[in-house]
Amino acid sequence: MSLNNIEPHSESWKKILRQNFTRLDILTDFLELNEEQKNSLIDKPHFSLNIPLRLAQKIKKGTLDDPIFRQFVPLKEESSIRDDFFSDPVGDAQFCRESKLLHKYEGRVLLVCTSACAMHCRYCFRQNFDYDNQDRTFKSELNIIANDSTIREVILSGGDPLSLSNEILKPLLTKLNDIPHIKRIRFHTRFPIGIPERIDANFLSILENLQKQIWFVIHVNHPQELDLDIFFYLKKLQLIGCILLNQSVLLKNVNDNPDTLKELCEVLVDQGILPYYIHQLDRVKGTSHFEVSEEYGRELLKQISRSLPGYAVPKYVKEIIGESYKTSLF
Ligand code: SF4
Repeated sequence: MSLNNIEPHSESWKKILRQNFTRLDILTDFLELNEEQKNSLIDKPHFSLNIPLRLAQKIKKGTLDDPIFRQFVPLKEESSIRDDFFSDPVGDAQFCRESKLLHKYEGRVLLVCTSACAMHCRYCFRQNFDYDNQDRTFKSELNIIANDSTIREVILSGGDPLSLSNEILKPLLTKLNDIPHIKRIRFHTRFPIGIPERIDANFLSILENLQKQIWFVIHVNHPQELDLDIFFYLKKLQLIGCILLNQSVLLKNVNDNPDTLKELCEVLVDQGILPYYIHQLDRVKGTSHFEVSEEYGRELLKQISRSLPGYAVPKYVKEIIGESYKTSLF
């Protein structure tokens, strides 16, 4: 699927972006699941089903044991709630300087610029975040950033910042670009993995006109999520000078084996994308079935370190509320 010949933000463009599965019955038929398998799923989870066609097409048919399936389709295990899993496991709420602006770490702020994502990852730590979607001018947040010269980097997060239209992103990026003490703008996005065509000519031209260093931290957990089309669009970002990193979450029955992790890291570095972080699962309610012990996580990292160059091994980290940086586990 390609948008190369389609006018960005035209009706045809929007139609392609709407090709996500959001109904379980349609998805389970597409994946050829039997009745017993369907009974292992939650029909109407509190965090709704949302998976792009591109990713759904990569899921093996007729099984629940597929690494993409497990990341996006709500299993009944989500209903088992442990009291050491929380709504806000990383304490986002206590670091809000404005409704959309989190200031957790020195020198960096995180702008939660939208609640929308191209896909809903079942383990998302921000699935219960109290998003404020009213004001798309980001006036008060930009004001705080402009008046605090200790801030050198702005991270655009969400949700997914690429779910905002170019018409909303352009003035936001231009205003950030005009603040002298801001040196770096960073996108945290999973959009290119589901809908890489979002990196359209208009978006690239907006980025090209910025003077700040632009970083993209994409989010891939398993090599099966990737394909040549995705690399084609990511390369366009690299060609205009953006630096690309990847972050993953260590997830049971998804990527908790050394061969998968090693393959993921190698595929990424072959494309000039540095494996940056592998996160210990943030303990958000309903995700305990994804958790891998830290001890086993360290063992996995030790194993992949034996056969990869140092730059290809991600940092294994955990977020602890109140710490001024992520805690290294390996
Ligand atoms: S793309 Fe990111 S923000 Fe969106 S659901 Fe997945 S983990 Fe959460």
